[in-house]
Amino acid sequence: MPQAPQEITITTKDTSFTVYSVEEYNQLPDSLKSPFISEQLQKLETDRLRENYRREQEEKEKLTPAGAVVIIVTLAMVFYFFRNLFTSAKYDLKESISENLVDESAGQPLHYPGRDLNLSEDEIKRICSKYNPYFQKLSFDKKIQFIRRLNGFMRSKHFYIYAGKGYKEMPVLISAAAIQITFGLDEYMLPYFSNIIIHPDAYLADNPLRILMGNVQGRSITLSWKHFLEDYQNPTDGKNVGLHEMAHALQVQYLFTKRNRNNEFKEDFAHYDRADDEVLKEKFDAHGLFDKYALKDKNELWATSVELFFERPADLKLDYPELYDSIKLVLNQDPLTL
Ligand SMILES: [Zn+2]
Repeated sequence: MPQAPQEITITTKDTSFTVYSVEEYNQLPDSLKSPFISEQLQKLETDRLRENYRREQEEKEKLTPAGAVVIIVTLAMVFYFFRNLFTSAKYDLKESISENLVDESAGQPLHYPGRDLNLSEDEIKRICSKYNPYFQKLSFDKKIQFIRRLNGFMRSKHFYIYAGKGYKEMPVLISAAAIQITFGLDEYMLPYFSNIIIHPDAYLADNPLRILMGNVQGRSITLSWKHFLEDYQNPTDGKNVGLHEMAHALQVQYLFTKRNRNNEFKEDFAHYDRADDEVLKEKFDAHGLFDKYALKDKNELWATSVELFFERPADLKLDYPELYDSIKLVLNQDPLTL
């Protein structure tokens, strides 16, 4: 990069002397100035100004527009993340799981082995009565059976919570979603899945990078607590991420793993598999029950059908009676006669 000269030597016929800055040179009498040096200085000064201008532009480009957008989005994500971390308690859930189980290591999830939770049947009943509309509709005897099953299920899982604090309601209500969907089946433990992972809000997953409210991967069922609760608070809108993920988990447990090679679920599912073609073949649902995502493939259609089966049973039965009957057969229960 050209620099303005620090030192300029002026040579006249019989002597020479040196000035140390452009300003000093400019102050010399014109008779001592050389046209050649003046021209060179002019050029150097122009180059210097040009270089400064180029640098200023570079700095500006770093900030706008792409640079500024990246910075703003990053700040917004950081803010959103921390806001959710600290406001996840706002969902009317005040009770914390036994404090001495809290893992303080930064960035690590809180880990609660289900067998150490030691929640009484009364506590489980109280939580389910308050938050689970399916449980609320059960008869007295069925409620007892539901709680026993839930307790067994919960004790067999490990709960990992990515938040500063865990709530009793988390393991209880997520286990309740599993018990709800399997309530007509003899096998309800989903033994293939050892882990339940809970995030306070939607979370990032990689391969491919995406934002999720729930997913089933490996031996883990993962859920966004915020979306899980919101969906149970609207029990008739046909959307329930908890039931959706449990429906996927059931597929994995009964259909995709080597266990239970031949089972009743598998046989009944073949019946469902024929009924869902009716919906899939059109790739379009004129009744507006299934969205584009549900019609993406057979697995998504199954999970979405289960959501509708529990949350909008009358509509599903009316528009797709065969599909409704086949799910009734697979799950061995009927929400309409609960
Ligand atoms: Zn799905």
